[in-house]
Parts: sequence; C-alpha cells; structure tokens
Amino acid sequence: SVPLSFFGGIGGASKKGVLVKGSNYLEALAKAEIVVFDKTGTLTKGVFNVQEIHPSEITENELLEIAAYAESYSNHPISLSLQQAYGKEINNARISEVEEISGHGVTASIDGKKVAAGNAKLMKKMNISYFEGEIIGTAVHVAIDGKYAGYILISDEIKPDSLQAIKTLKKNHIRKTVMLTGDNKAVAEKIANSLEIDKVYSELLPVDKVDRLEELFSEKSENGKLVFVGDGMNDAPVLARADIGIAMGGLGSDAAIEAADVVLMTDEPSKLVTAIKISKKTLRIAQ
Ligand code: ADP
Ligand code: MG
Repeated sequence: SVPLSFFGGIGGASKKGVLVKGSNYLEALAKAEIVVFDKTGTLTKGVFNVQEIHPSEITENELLEIAAYAESYSNHPISLSLQQAYGKEINNARISEVEEISGHGVTASIDGKKVAAGNAKLMKKMNISYFEGEIIGTAVHVAIDGKYAGYILISDEIKPDSLQAIKTLKKNHIRKTVMLTGDNKAVAEKIANSLEIDKVYSELLPVDKVDRLEELFSEKSENGKLVFVGDGMNDAPVLARADIGIAMGGLGSDAAIEAADVVLMTDEPSKLVTAIKISKKTLRIAQ
C-alpha cells in the first residue's frame, strides 16, 4: 500500500509546479542517478533568432522568403524563427505539397518549385551539394528545384537557470548528466561544455535518442533511476522509455505531457531539482 505521506508529497509537489502522475514516480525520483536532457527547449530557450543570411545566386530577401514559405506549416522552433525574421504575411495559395521530415527539416512546393529547407542531413538525403565550410551555429540550408540556394544561420540561447540546475543536481548525488540533440556537433558541444554536462550526443534522429537512452541503462546501478527531461517536440518515445520521463509543460506538446510520468508546469530546469528534493523528503517521511 502507498504510505499516506506520498499523497502529501504529490500535493506538495503540485503546489510547487511539479505534477507527479503517481506515488511510484515520486519514490523513483529520489533514486535518480543519471539525468538525460533534450537540448532545444529544455536546456535552451527553444527560441531561435536569425543571425546571418548567406544566399547563393539569389538575394538575402529571396532566400529568407522561400525558407519562411517552405516552413510556414511547421511549428518547429526553427520554423517559428524564420516566420518571425521574414515578418510578412504568408500567401498560402503559393504553397502546396508540404512535408515535415523529423530531425531533418521540411520540403514544400512554392510557386510550383520544389523547396527543401533543413540541416545537412536533409541536403545529403536529397543529394544536394551544400556549403560544408565551418558554420558556428545552426544552419538551415535551402535548395530550390534540386539546386543549392544558400543557408540561414540561426541561434538559440541557454536558459538562465540551466547551469545552476545542473550544478545542483551534481551536489544532490546525480552521478551523470547527459544531453541529447538533433542539432549539429559544434553547437551541441559548445552548449554541453558551458553547462558542465558530462556527456553529449548530437545529430540524433528522434529514434536515435531512444537508442542512446537504452545504452545508458547499462551504466546505472541496480537501484538507480534513469531520468529523461524533454520539452516534447518528437520526444514522446524517449519520455516513455526512461524510468522517469519528465516533460516541460509550458512549451510541451500534448503527446509529451501524455507520455510523461512527471510534468514540470514551467519550463525551468531548476524545477527538476525541486522535484528531486520533494521526493527525497517524502521518502524520508515514509520510511
Ligand atoms: P532537437 O533534438 O534539438 O530537439 P529536432 O529533433 O527537433 O531537434 O531537430 C533536429 C534538427 O533537425 C534541428 O537541429 C534542425 O537542424 C533539423 N530540423 C528539424 N526540424 C526542422 C525544421 N522544421 N526546419 C529546419 N530544420 C529542422
Ligand atoms: Mg526537440
């Protein structure tokens, strides 16, 4: 049977913005040993800004326009940043055959031209030769009718409390912190280093994230728990696979909130610290 203190613990947690979907998860949180974070929207704000536009044989405005059009049906944070930088109304009559390819980008027909906008993986998949020089940041490469049209450099910011949250986790007996991301290696490593994350895996597709999580299970002790924290975009399978799947409720999708065991009502990584502290306190009272 469930000790009464667990109900108190769940109630107390909810007052602090942490929704726990059962006493078993509250108990498990106290045994968290490895914490795995998604990057975009979890440790970073998930709000990209356009930094530079590098067109190839078209103008900057034309490149931004075609990218914004191709992305206009997506609600990925990258898409939203391009809409915002473009800033003009989208004429839907110009767009057809929109397809979003998770972990890659989008394809669409704009004024009858086949447009692809996304990362290097997307360009490779479509056999388009793209700029492979050094890019410091996240690039959205664009191709029009199979021909490279340049790239748009975007960047996201680390959340103000991410570093403190990770430091506090380590003081609270979290043995290992890990970051998973579909973003490129350079960006991923820069962020992981500045956040003192122990291990980083980049350029992952949503299915690869599940595989990396599987591997991490072999690193934990018998009683230790593996926690995954994500904002939700494509993360439902990883949330479901972890011992404790934690979704950030603010930006999180309905699918993520459904798949999660714990929902943080605000998007602050420090709420995870709060959740672990409450669970430890509750466990002490229960024993
Ligand atoms: P993350 O792991 O950072 O949450 P995603 O799995 O959503 O990222 O996407 C991984 C990568 O795929 C992005 O960094 C980006 O390069 C590319 N990508 C995904 N969706 C889009 C999109 N709508 N437009 C452009 N690029 C995209
Ligand atoms: Mg994501």
